Amino acid sequence: MAFDPRDVYDAAALYDMWLNCHGCINTFDFEPNRTIGLEYYHDIGQRAKRDGWLVAEQEEGADDAYMVLCPHCVSRYGLEVRHERNVRIPPAIEEICLAMQAVEKEQVAA
Ligand SMILES: [Zn+2]
Repeated sequence: MAFDPRDVYDAAALYDMWLNCHGCINTFDFEPNRTIGLEYYHDIGQRAKRDGWLVAEQEEGADDAYMVLCPHCVSRYGLEVRHERNVRIPPAIEEICLAMQAVEKEQVAA
């Protein structure tokens, strides 16, 4: 499976670069040694999903584009993790996505 801009986990990983919990100081354990690219964000997003992180799109106009909570805070707040998939690709995500794809293409060509 490749990066899926409609998957909020993939999208949030791309948008935020890595996932920081909004409820405490937890940061999702990302891999600084790997090449940054869509595959990388996809892996981070899907790993966070498997590990029980909560990622949800915020209402338009909110300070952060995504609500991110670690598994600890999810249970602390008594929340339920639902894996929602967007019907449409958020414009900001699509833009970053296209930019990254262009860079990746350049790297392959060089
Ligand atoms: Zn937390």
